[in-house]
Amino acid sequence: MNGDGWSIEFTGPAGSSEALRETLLSLGNGYLGMRGTGEEGGGPESIPGTYINGFHETAPIVYGERFPGFADEKQTMINIADARLIRITADGVDLGPDAPGLTDERRTLDLRRGRLNRSLTWNLPTGGTLEIETTRMIHQVREHLALSEYRIRSRGFDGPLTVNSGIDTGSRQNRHDGEDPRLGTAFSGDVLATSEPQVLTDGLILTQSTMASGMRLCCGYRELWSVDVESTEWRGDGVAGRRYTLPIRDGETVILRKYMAYFDGSTADPRRVEGELEAALDTGLPALIEEQESFMASFWNDADIRIEGDPRMQQGIRFNLFHVLQSAGRDGRRNAAAKGLSGPGYEGHYFWDTETYILPVFIHTRPRIAAALLEYRYHGLDAARDHARKMGHPVGALYPWRTIDGRECSANFITGSAQYHINADIAFAVRRYVDATGDEEFMGRFGAEILCETARLWCDAGHFDAVDGRFRIESVTGPDEYHVLVNNNAYTNLMARENLRGAADAVDRLRENDPGAFATLVDRIDLSADEVVVWRKAADRMYVPYDPERRLIPQDDGFLHKEPWDFQGTPAERYPLLLHYHPLTVNRYQVCKQADLLLAHLLLPDAYDIDQKRRDFDYYESVTTHDSSLSACVFGILASELGEAEKADRYFRETALADLDDIHGNTAVGIHAATMAGTWQSIVFGFAGMRSGPILRFEPKLPKAWESCAFSVRYRGRKIAVRITREETELRLESGDPMDVAVGGRTLRLESD
Ligand code: BGC
Repeated sequence: MNGDGWSIEFTGPAGSSEALRETLLSLGNGYLGMRGTGEEGGGPESIPGTYINGFHETAPIVYGERFPGFADEKQTMINIADARLIRITADGVDLGPDAPGLTDERRTLDLRRGRLNRSLTWNLPTGGTLEIETTRMIHQVREHLALSEYRIRSRGFDGPLTVNSGIDTGSRQNRHDGEDPRLGTAFSGDVLATSEPQVLTDGLILTQSTMASGMRLCCGYRELWSVDVESTEWRGDGVAGRRYTLPIRDGETVILRKYMAYFDGSTADPRRVEGELEAALDTGLPALIEEQESFMASFWNDADIRIEGDPRMQQGIRFNLFHVLQSAGRDGRRNAAAKGLSGPGYEGHYFWDTETYILPVFIHTRPRIAAALLEYRYHGLDAARDHARKMGHPVGALYPWRTIDGRECSANFITGSAQYHINADIAFAVRRYVDATGDEEFMGRFGAEILCETARLWCDAGHFDAVDGRFRIESVTGPDEYHVLVNNNAYTNLMARENLRGAADAVDRLRENDPGAFATLVDRIDLSADEVVVWRKAADRMYVPYDPERRLIPQDDGFLHKEPWDFQGTPAERYPLLLHYHPLTVNRYQVCKQADLLLAHLLLPDAYDIDQKRRDFDYYESVTTHDSSLSACVFGILASELGEAEKADRYFRETALADLDDIHGNTAVGIHAATMAGTWQSIVFGFAGMRSGPILRFEPKLPKAWESCAFSVRYRGRKIAVRITREETELRLESGDPMDVAVGGRTLRLESD
């Protein structure tokens, strides 16, 4: 892999790394996503993928033994019709990844402009050569639109060229592996029904419907050639479109421009597709590209991080930010899947990854996307209430651990529904968003209800101990999935405490500042003053385990009493442990999959002093495998806080390169969106030491190799540019009112000049 600070480039045939390249080079805009496969198809190693965020099929979960409250249906984001398809035949040979005579293959992801470029040279049997260049874009402003330009130049080839261009409707199933729980299970039959296409003179429109979930999409394309061509309708096995025959001569270039549109749900209507395509054709490719570039320029203006002295990390951070942008739904109805729209891994499910890892990036760069992601959770409240009832709670809402449509779809409640902390994670994210943006209206319309319903749930899930009166929460799974159904997971209890207090505070503030919104809330959820009192009491009496001898915060009540794991005797090929040991085995030992308590230290920076954090860091570092890619960034950020520069740097690299270097060996099925966002967090919260509190504060600690690092953050209506060098930290107020900030413990006034 090559490229520079603004690009990722692969040259030569992909061979067995085709699927990995397709993931890394995938494009998306939060609504539509396409893997980086060539227009002609990707060969036997390819995992084809075109996705609409949230477009999924369902099937009943078949349990050997079923108990009340188990999730009913699986949900899987599915691979839909692919309108990119182009197949060329010259000299009687078909162009494909294994075609004879291919040289100079290159695929380049242009991060600055948001497009994928390909080029290749094809030496034909009769001596001529075709040079092919393509550009692909998923439009960032027109969310339903994708574009491709396909340029063919002849060198010494005179002859007819056959080009089949159309839609691949083959409803291929996602990739499966019965041994890897991170991939889904297969559906028993076809998942999509495709309508008879509506044939246009320059394109095609068709409709697809899922067999069980009742979802519908409509997609189509229109295309334009740069020369006069003759065409006929083209039909093949699972493909439909037009067949063109073009005369091409030595030195000539012919260009095919394809405009593609996708609509789903209530907009899945051929007229919408036609309208979108018509508008795109009217606007024309140059102007559409301009729109794309100006969107991307403004995104980078808000989100870019510039690093001097470390080109690899410069490339890494931009690559990661680019994919985070591509992954996140922006319409309040779709969220960000763990793998974004880049592959079938984790079946397109949304997890806490969004709120805990991805959201901070948007809060401080694109707050409107952050609001949209949280709005998705608001719309999921009814499903979360149902989930709570199924799980035996007469009040409150319990958000699902894994979902697309808002209902729990994890077939393994032990590491699924039992992760009650997702409630606190979402509540925390709401407060974090409102605190950093000042968007009180969001709190009134959506946030307060989320806070109250999640707070209610804690009151029912936990209890006041009859002996000491402390509030305890038993039988939950914390973030560390190697320890399940534990009592008093410290992270969960600390975050539940925040949730309870946050809800009570939000109610008080709303009552005072927005009586109208307060009255609506009381009415909507039948809120009583008494229960708010109980929330505060539960928060004040929240039990958090502590080991006075070792002066450590145990991950849960039993953790420190477990047998130490034999790290010495565990060979490298037995990691990740989840693929080699029964879950009960790891459950019995002091061994963690990922950051758990340490995440609480990061999210609640003032809850404990630095010595406690150091002791906990040292201990948990010695027992954590980082088998989840979500772990390293948390350790790295805390390492920065503790002044452990070398460790901070090492964890940062592991985070930033998780996908580029395929560190976890499964990027072929999709990016790790949360980890990518963790790269941003590692720099902003880690190396720059940014923390939000009564005032915004920074504790900069630049990695040794870096000369400088610069970025901007949005905070309470301001935009603040930060530049850190070895000698100094420069803060500039780019917009908004003057404010106080603290840098290295000193409070300073930030004025516009
Ligand atoms: C992690 C979870 C995470 C999920 C999706 C799992 O391996 O343990 O914390 O939410 O992956 O990224």
